Amino acid sequence: MAEQYDAIVIGAGPAGYVAAIRCAQLGLKTACVDRWLSDSNKPSPGGTCLNVGCIPSKALLESSALYANVKQGIAKHGIIVPSVEIDISVMMARKDKVVNELSQGIGALFQSNGIAFYSGRGKLLLDKRVEINEFNKKEKQIVSADNVILAPGSSPIDLKAAPLDDDLIVDSSGALAFSEVPGRLGIIGAGVIGLELGSLWRRLGSEVILLEAQDKFLPIADDQVARETHKQFSAQGLDIRLNSRVVVCEAKNNQVHIDYEDANGTQHETVDKLIVAVGRRPNTNDLCAEEAGLTLDEWGIIHVDAQCMTNLPGVYAIGDAVHGPMLAHKGSEEGVMVAEIIAGHSAQVNYDTIPNIIYTDPEIAWIGKTEQQLKSTGVEYRAGNFPFSASGRAKASGETAGMVKVLADAETDRILGVHMIGSHCSELISQVGIAMEFGASSEDICMTMFAHPTLSEAFHEAALAVGGRAIHLLKK
Ligand code: FAD
Ligand code: AMP
Repeated sequence: MAEQYDAIVIGAGPAGYVAAIRCAQLGLKTACVDRWLSDSNKPSPGGTCLNVGCIPSKALLESSALYANVKQGIAKHGIIVPSVEIDISVMMARKDKVVNELSQGIGALFQSNGIAFYSGRGKLLLDKRVEINEFNKKEKQIVSADNVILAPGSSPIDLKAAPLDDDLIVDSSGALAFSEVPGRLGIIGAGVIGLELGSLWRRLGSEVILLEAQDKFLPIADDQVARETHKQFSAQGLDIRLNSRVVVCEAKNNQVHIDYEDANGTQHETVDKLIVAVGRRPNTNDLCAEEAGLTLDEWGIIHVDAQCMTNLPGVYAIGDAVHGPMLAHKGSEEGVMVAEIIAGHSAQVNYDTIPNIIYTDPEIAWIGKTEQQLKSTGVEYRAGNFPFSASGRAKASGETAGMVKVLADAETDRILGVHMIGSHCSELISQVGIAMEFGASSEDICMTMFAHPTLSEAFHEAALAVGGRAIHLLKK
């Protein structure tokens, strides 16, 4: 007889593994199937995020930031380092170790929570049965469950104009495994992933050219932040070419020849490596048998309601394969919500307080509405800005680039959005999340005591600036 579970999760990325753990914590008999294998062919739960996304990119961003700091940053502190070298193989080995340890940690979490883990492919069949093709077994098996959670994640979108060749033209995964620093590096797509990868390799010494089809830089961010970011990145030497659509690429004689179109016609560029970072698509090919009748949209995104229920009763979908931003923490929160619902509790994800972060230097982070969104929907608001150049702690650290902006409802004073650009903003933004989750007004932040000297004081001062009473800003 087929093994029967209360819940079976397909996919062990940050959406799926978190859902599985929460299901098990709630007393449900839970299984999880995941197909990711490491380079050494071992099961590697953790999905894109852990294997080729959030974690390896941040491990390398950290290494590259250290290198850039030692090379350029610390001389102004009076610390002289006569020569600095990079050993990319050590850098990559450290990144791989971080990934392996965390992935093994998920395995241990599964074990300690009594979750049955299958390393292989899962496919949803009719009536909440799941076909599992385990890598270490010849025969496929079928298990069934009262509830199925689909968390298959996403993969990089291919660009016909730039076919990958695993060496010169690579996707984001390939760009996290270069064996040497490319002299001249092209990146197609100046979105979040393109910018993070561009920053990483620029810090290690590459000359970076970003080709972006849209004429607006970072349209998802607040306009003021996007403008400031563009200015900072250009000053650092990132060559960002907007309105530049790549039409054809050819890898020849160890170089990549790119043709792209801009306002002046067809242009030509030659680089040593090319990264294609033009977005991601859901992994819903072959996830579900035709007769099961799962509804997908034209992009392959699984159709779900606000509780992540699909059109099939008892079948849920979460993470990158459903609507909303493709972010690990968004998927994890959906995983927790679905587990709670399956266990009979009520739960909801607050999609209005999702933190967005771009881990460049300076970092960009925001939660909530941008100024242009408020304008276009006719919401009356008041804005308060505070530059890090006026922060004592930022000055002491020598990291004065950027600012914090608070947008509050003109009538209720409730915070509608906070936008940051600067050092450590990826950490600073969490206090904004807490405030917004509790429905804070800008006055609530004004009345809160912030420790001195900290970068967090910039959030306090920006909230004070909403009412024109920032202490450390010159009076206009
Ligand atoms: P995934 O992490 O993609 O996991 C899905 C898993 O399901 C995979 O292991 C896949 O192999 C498996 N699977 C799919 N189909 C099947 C099947 N049929 N059977 C069995 N297993 C299956 N997000 C952030 O929030 N912060 C960041 O800093 C960040 N940085 C990123 C950097 C890069 C370079 C990239 C590429 C992405 C980054 N992301 C970041 C995005 C983040 O990785 C994704 O949003 C997140 O991984 C989505 O989680 P998920 O669980 O939905 O899917
Ligand atoms: P994101 O979806 O945030 O990862 O960003 C991907 C970016 O790639 C988008 O801003 C797209 O405009 C851009 N893009 C897609 N196709 C091309 C292309 N052929 N040439 C240049 N940029 C592209």
